[in-house]
Amino acid sequence: MRAPAKLNLHLSVGQKRADGFHDLKTVFQAVGLYDDVELVRADALSVTVSGEGADEVPLDDTNLAVRAVHLIADRTGNDASLAISIRKGIPVAGGCAGGSADAAAALVGCDALWGTGLSKDELAALGARLGSDVPFSLHGGTALGTGRGEQLTPVLGQGSYSWVLALTAGGLSTPAVYGQLDKQRETGPVGVVRDPADVLSALRQGDAVALGRALGNDLQSAAVALKPALRLLLETGRDLGALGAIVSGSGPTVALLARDEGHAVALAASLAGQGVCSAVRRADGPVAGARVVEAR
Ligand code: ATP
Repeated sequence: MRAPAKLNLHLSVGQKRADGFHDLKTVFQAVGLYDDVELVRADALSVTVSGEGADEVPLDDTNLAVRAVHLIADRTGNDASLAISIRKGIPVAGGCAGGSADAAAALVGCDALWGTGLSKDELAALGARLGSDVPFSLHGGTALGTGRGEQLTPVLGQGSYSWVLALTAGGLSTPAVYGQLDKQRETGPVGVVRDPADVLSALRQGDAVALGRALGNDLQSAAVALKPALRLLLETGRDLGALGAIVSGSGPTVALLARDEGHAVALAASLAGQGVCSAVRRADGPVAGARVVEAR
């Protein structure tokens, strides 16, 4: 299976709810940076992880792909004895939903392997129990997320967008970034972004310049407070001519919107030469959600 990274083109965070989650309004886009996940029938359930950041991914029952296999096996009465291999292409703890991508890949893989007959909505409901971003990792494309981000409405849009992702060593924990935002909000209103209307209208028109201007993320100030180097990275991206620069989700990955593919190549090369980030990737979006790419 192959499952894409996500970016949040817009992320408004409401107040903390009684269940500890925050109400969100977000516009997700799936972009062409992938984790590849393989499932093979075995004597017991196990997981191996390779690729960048693999040593930061748990190999026990807390691994999101392992949890996904357990969940769908219990729900459908199948034997969870599978060897899972994950090849990480999505930065770990980077705000790009890599763990959710692996969970989504495991769900669609088990569904195909066992012929569970679960509907897309049933798979998404199972995914939502694993994490707020898992339904979107299944869905792909571009979508508006509400609730914890798990209630999705497809977004009508046109065109393809060229992104440059600037990776930073040392991930940020999503709960820590939300905690920092709550703390900042005790002393005043912090970075409440506008309604997603401008982002949605830019996407409808396929207008990259307008989209670049409309990008917004309430978690950005909290992520920058925890990792001040992100400020320089955002500024450098804008100075190099990016149409927009934003911290992706809870960070620390920074997404820069390029004018087109040629501009993305130039932007990526200049950024890599500035020494302000640990690695640079290019990814176009929107792309499809988690899917089976080969069955043997
Ligand atoms: P999000 O954007 O959804 O908040 P993220 O992209 O910031 O998430 P992930 O890469 O999904 O972060 O990982 C967050 C943490 O989840 C990791 O530090 C790791 O301990 C744990 N984790 C569990 N399973 C996985 C997995 N299969 N891949 C990556 N991380 C995993």
